[in-house]
Parts: sequence; structure tokens; C-alpha cells
Amino acid sequence: MTSILFRNVNVIDGSGKPPYSADVRVADGRIASIARLNESGSNGEGSASAMSEHGDDVIDCRGATLMPGLIEPHAHLSFVDQATPAAFSTLPVEEHLLLTLKHAKLYLDQGFTSCFSAAATKPRLDVVVRNAINRGEHPGPRLRAASVQFTVTGGVGDLRQMHLDPGEAMYTLPCDGPVEFRRAAREACREGVDVLKIVPSGDTSTPAVPSARTLMTDDEVAAVCEVARAHERVVAAHARSAESIKMCLRHGVDVLYHASYADSEALDLLEAHKDDVFIAPALSVTVTRLRDAGKFGLPSTDAMKRRIENDLQKTIDVMKALKTRGVRVLPGGDYGFMWNPHGANARDLGYFVELLGFTPMEAIVGATRLGGEIMGMGSELGQVREGYLADLLLVDGDPLSDLRILEDAQKLIAIMKGGTFHKRPAPHLSGV
Ligand SMILES: [Zn+2]
Repeated sequence: MTSILFRNVNVIDGSGKPPYSADVRVADGRIASIARLNESGSNGEGSASAMSEHGDDVIDCRGATLMPGLIEPHAHLSFVDQATPAAFSTLPVEEHLLLTLKHAKLYLDQGFTSCFSAAATKPRLDVVVRNAINRGEHPGPRLRAASVQFTVTGGVGDLRQMHLDPGEAMYTLPCDGPVEFRRAAREACREGVDVLKIVPSGDTSTPAVPSARTLMTDDEVAAVCEVARAHERVVAAHARSAESIKMCLRHGVDVLYHASYADSEALDLLEAHKDDVFIAPALSVTVTRLRDAGKFGLPSTDAMKRRIENDLQKTIDVMKALKTRGVRVLPGGDYGFMWNPHGANARDLGYFVELLGFTPMEAIVGATRLGGEIMGMGSELGQVREGYLADLLLVDGDPLSDLRILEDAQKLIAIMKGGTFHKRPAPHLSGV
């Protein structure tokens, strides 16, 4: 098998270390070798030892940036860019599958080579799409497939109405008591999910159950975590309230989304668990509801607007505190609404800089190295490093001086997943 040589790249390796110039060779799906260049463009050990091009497919990169593929830690590939979640339930499964596959390809087109799913909106959508991608039948990112959300009766996503067939409320699965949560979790494991998603807190989007309210009980969270451990799966939680965060940490939930109302006790617990928990605030869905959703009639009232503003400010304060405490905080999340559409995911990196005080490098580390860790593949994914999987972006420009270029697919000269090009560089860069 021929190897591919990226000649003369500026490497942002995802570790957080400063960028460097190098030649990078990919073979058998992985990064085979990296030869650092000195200022004159040789590898510093004399031209005789410059990286051989024999048998290589050579890409003359002329100083373009080579970096790890981006990783979305809170994907909902089966969200359908509608204004409200009701659409996720009413869409027939056939059309829904086609849209989910379309979104999978879109993420890869935008440079996202991995996605950790934060819930499907029908029970098998993620699993079927993941399997099709893994078999090479459809382009898409590496995918950790999730269950639907397990919520309590009356919780976030319980769209049932007394006078309608309860089977229509498919986008979440209401469960009450540990027996029902355990059954739901086991069924999802049987169907092949990697991630079990629970909704232990409320959310501003559902006024009857505000963000700071805790809805699931200890025994319910414990039941899902027990099943996850038995089946070697992970648990992700929509956890905005302080008590829901503590409950999740007590029982071993792996991924916490939002974490907006963490109090000092919750912050201490998060810090104590910093090596075994990931946080993704999903800033964009909240920011864009305030900045962009007006044209879709949202937020619908001034009171709702104030609640969203409060959610955002609390989330910002908590994320700054968690960063200081060394907790892993990842950009991305909850794309797939009309005002926060699929494909725009890289703008979350900009929000981390603008709102949380991250440096561009810290934001990139969150979307690459930490992304590899949340995928459960930290020893082989998320960095430009010898032996790591060749999930790579070749970028026209320097994302450290302008992160927004990562939002522009035109700036992605090449996109590679597992050593295979999803997007090839233009012919004039090859065959040199
Ligand atoms: Zn979500």
C-alpha cells in the first residue's frame, strides 16, 4: 500500500504544544512518521536523511496547517434543523434515516472526523448509521452511537399529551423508577448503543421543569450506571442543576452536558472527578437562541429570554471555574436546530475564546486531544503523533490566528479519516 507524505506542513498536533514545521507520512491508516524541519526546510539532520519520497504519494503542502480532525462531543445527528423537538418525533423513520446519514456526511465535510453522540431521536438511528459508516457504506465520522434520551414522566422531552397516542412521543423515552430505567438501558445495550443518555435535570426550553430543577432520583441514575458498567458502555447526562451534577458524579456518569448551576460543592466534586468525567457546556445552542433565533420567533417571551440569559451567564461562570480547576471542558454541542444548524459546529471554538477566556490553542486541544479521550480512544485518536490514527485536516491558513477558518469548509484543503482521503487536495498540490 502506498503511503502518503504531507511535505512541509505546519503541525498543530492537538497536544497544546507549540506548532512546528514537519513532513508527515501516513501509512496503513496511521501516522507512520513525523520528521521535523528546521528553518531552511530540511529535517535538521542533513539533506541525506530527509524523509524519503520513494513509494509515497506526495502532497506539497507549502506550509499549510496539518492538525487532527475535529471531534464533536455532543452530537445529535438525527436532529433535523427544526425550531422545536416535536419535529424529531413526527418525522417517519425512513426520511429520518436519510437525513441522519446526510448529516453524518456533512460533519465529515466540515472536518469533524469523530462524533460522540448525545442522543438519537429514534432508538436505532445512531446505531444503524454508525454501522453503515464502519462498513464503509456511507461517508461519516467515527461515531459513538447513543440511545434516545431516558427522561422521567413530565421531564425534558416528554412530549406526550393525554389525548394522543403515547407512542408518538418517540424522541425521548419516559421512564419512572429504577426498574423502568434499567429496562430501557438494557434494551438500548441490546440494540448496540455505545452511550446511554439520561436527563436528570430540567431545562429552560421546557418551562414546566426549569434548568435548576432535579428530576431523576438517585436510584434511577444508579440503575442506568449499573447497566452501563455491566455492558461496558458509557453514560452521558443532561445535567444543569447542582443536585443532578452531584447525583451523576456519585454514580459514575462519564459525560456531563451543560452543568450550568453547579454550586461550590458540585465544583469541588467535579474537580475531584476531573480524571474520569468530561464536561461539554454546549454554548452555541444557548448563545444562538439569544442572538439568532429571533427570526424564528424565539425566545417567545421576555421572561423566557431572561431565563436563557441567566442559563448562559451561569454556564459561563461555571466553565471558567472548571477550567481553572483543571476539569476537561470540551467545545461543541447541540447543533441541529434551525437557528443552530448542523455543520456550523466549529464556531463553538470561537465561543470558548470569546466567552470563556480560552486561548485558540486551548480551544483546539478541547476539540482534538480531549475529543479523542471522550471517544475512549485517547491513546490513538485526537493528536498528530506517530502511531495515532490518521484523522487529519490540511487547512489553508493558521487557525491559531483566526479560528473562524475552521468553520469554512473551503479552507479545508484535505480531510482524511483513518488514512483515507474524504476530501483530496487539489491536483496541483499532488505528484510533486
Ligand atoms: Zn443535547
